[in-house]
Amino acid sequence: MALIVQKFGGTSVGDLDRIRNVASRVKSEVESGNQVAVVVSAMAGTTNQLVSWARDIGPMHDAREYDAIVATGEQVTVGLLAIALQNMGVDARSWLGWQIPVHTDEVHGAARIQSIDTGVMRERLATGQVAVVAGFQGLAPDGRISTLGRGGSDTSAVALAAALNADRCDIYTDVDGVYTTDPRIAPRAQKLDQISFEEMLEMASLGAKVLQTRSVAMAMRHNVNLQVRSSFTDAPGTLVVNEDAIVEQEKISGIAYSPDEAKLTIQGLPDRPGIAAAIFGTLAENHINVDMIVQTAASEGQKTDITFSLGRGDLAKALEIIEASRGSLGFDGVDAKDDVTKISVVGMAMRSQPGVARTMFETLAERGINIEVISTSEIKISVLIAAEYTELAVRSLHAAFGLDAED
Ligand code: ASP
Ligand code: MG
Repeated sequence: MALIVQKFGGTSVGDLDRIRNVASRVKSEVESGNQVAVVVSAMAGTTNQLVSWARDIGPMHDAREYDAIVATGEQVTVGLLAIALQNMGVDARSWLGWQIPVHTDEVHGAARIQSIDTGVMRERLATGQVAVVAGFQGLAPDGRISTLGRGGSDTSAVALAAALNADRCDIYTDVDGVYTTDPRIAPRAQKLDQISFEEMLEMASLGAKVLQTRSVAMAMRHNVNLQVRSSFTDAPGTLVVNEDAIVEQEKISGIAYSPDEAKLTIQGLPDRPGIAAAIFGTLAENHINVDMIVQTAASEGQKTDITFSLGRGDLAKALEIIEASRGSLGFDGVDAKDDVTKISVVGMAMRSQPGVARTMFETLAERGINIEVISTSEIKISVLIAAEYTELAVRSLHAAFGLDAED
C-alpha cells in the first residue's frame, strides 16, 4: 500500500464533468489499495475573476482581505470533489488550509508554508478516507487565511507530500508532461520521460509554466517523487527525478523562453569601485529584480557601460530610479528596450559536453539574430534577443540541438 498525493489544476476541475472525471481517477487509486490525499486548484478562470474583483472594488490596502476573497475558489472545488467521490461510493472529506492546518508565514498574498500538521489527516487516511485538500491556502500566524501566490497549489501539493512522506506526488494538468519547449511555438517539441530537479527548476523559472518554481525547489529539497501528467489521458507523464537517477544524458533537455523582459543600458559611467554596488543596491532596495548583467571593459581612465535585463513591468520604475541618481553616479545617458525575449538552453549535458554555447551562438547567427546579452550557469545558457525573433530562435535551437520529433 502506498500513500499518494494527487494534485489537479484549474482546467482539470474546470467544470462538473471534469470534476467527476477527477473523482474516477482518485477512485481508481483507492481501488488499487492506496491511501490518497488530493489537492485541488480553483476551477479554471475563477481565481482570475476573484483577483480582479478584489482589485476593482477599490484601492487595496489590506492583503488579509485579498486572501479572504481569492482563497474561496478552492473551497468550492474541494466540496464538489468530495461530493462527487461520495456519490461514487468513496469515503472522502474536504479540508481547508486552516482546518489541517497548513501553517504559513504572515506575508498575506504571497505566504510561504512553514509546517503542516498531518496528525488527524493521517488517522483519516489510515481508515481509507480520501482527504480532499484546498490548494493555495494556509493559516497565517494572525489566525487568518493566507494564500501562497498565483499557481501556489503546486506548492501545496508538494509540501503535503513532503509532510506526509508520500510515496508519490502526481501533478495532473492539461498537458501530458514537461516538453522540450513550448509546443505552441515549436510543433516538433517532445515530451520528456524524465528531467532532473535542477533542470526543471531552470525551465520553470525561465518561463515553462507547468510547475510553480517554488514547488520544484521544495520537491528537490525534500526529495519528493514528482510526476507531471495529464488528467485527460492515461499516457505516462514526465518524472522529475534526482540527478543521480539519470544515468547518462547526451542531449540538452530543453529550450525555454521568457517573453516579458526588458533591457536597460547605462552609458558612460565612471570606471571606479562602488558604481555597480550603488546601481544594483538602489534597484534592490526598490524590490526590482535584475537578471542578466554585463559591463563593458573600459581601457585605463575611460568610461564604461553597464547593461542589465529585468522584468518588463519594472522598467519604468527602474528608469525613474536610475535617472534620479544621475547626479551621484555621473553617467552620460540611458538606453532602454522593452521588446526583448530571453531564450535559454537548459541541460545537465552541458557539464560534460563542450560546444553547447558555440552551437547556440552559431545557430542564432545563421538566422541573422543578434545576441544582446549573454549569461550562463552550470546547466544553462541564456541570451537576450529582439522579441520579434522569439519563435524563429526557439524553433531553430530546438532543431539544432536534435530535439525535434521525427515525422
Ligand atoms: N487557484 C490559484 C491560482 O489560480 C492557485 C493555483 O491554481 O495553483 O493561482
Ligand atoms: Mg496551476
